[in-house]
Amino acid sequence: MPTLNEKKALILGGSRGIGAAIVERLTAEGADTRFTYAGSAEAAAALADKTGATAIQTDSADRAAVAGTIAGQGALDILVINAGVVVMGDPLESDPDAVDRMIDINVRSPYHAAVEAARSMNDGGRIVVIGSVNGDRMPFPGGAAYALTKSAVQGMVRGLARDFGERGITVNSVQPGPVDTDMNPADGPMKDTMHSFMAIKRHARPAEIAGMVAYLVGPEAGIVTGAQHTIDGGFGA
Ligand code: NDP
Repeated sequence: MPTLNEKKALILGGSRGIGAAIVERLTAEGADTRFTYAGSAEAAAALADKTGATAIQTDSADRAAVAGTIAGQGALDILVINAGVVVMGDPLESDPDAVDRMIDINVRSPYHAAVEAARSMNDGGRIVVIGSVNGDRMPFPGGAAYALTKSAVQGMVRGLARDFGERGITVNSVQPGPVDTDMNPADGPMKDTMHSFMAIKRHARPAEIAGMVAYLVGPEAGIVTGAQHTIDGGFGA
């Protein structure tokens, strides 16, 4: 049964992986859906054709561009901030510009996007940020910068939930563990290390993450806010 009829949704970073699964799920639930992408024009066009969602090219590293895209949509009911990148490796060797770009995409843009969307969001709206279990637990070397971006999401979610709660707008994060996407393929070189930390030793499917997002943006979750929702096969347990 569609539960999101009449709801206007924007997914930031929806062309591939978890974001594409969220686009598929929200359109299936009846939401009037649009999504952004940066580099994957072909994948974005194919997803738009398949789902009826609208694809909009907007680089999440560019704060003003993201704000402009959001302002151009009018009043949203749902904002899902999924766009994210990962820079891992020896911090002594990492390119500081790459680290800063990750912070722009994973932290600065989500904060400003959430604030911009809230300006005109309908009462009872939903904001969901895709964080990571690495915001809670970083069990191997090389992940400090990525982990700091996902821990920052936690503080943002807690604070904005209080800022917008009076209007019934909820603000939550979803914290996946390993998910089978281009970013982290289920057969990648780190798979055994990652699975060793898990109670259920497999990567999640993007659709499983989209299911949790669908709950949080749906009608049953109106009292769920300011919280991090971990879906990680026990990675952080
Ligand atoms: P992918 O690399 O498979 O896909 C990333 C998506 O984000 C693409 O649609 C990409 O669009 C978009 N994106 C990236 N950079 C930008 C940008 N600058 N502007 C606009 N869109 C952008 O990643 P996942 O699906 O795996 O990850 C999605 C989110 O989930 C991220 O926030 C990630 O940190 C988080 N996550 C992922 C985990 C995993 O194991 N996969 C685990 C925990 C969290 P395009 O290709 O068009 O640039």
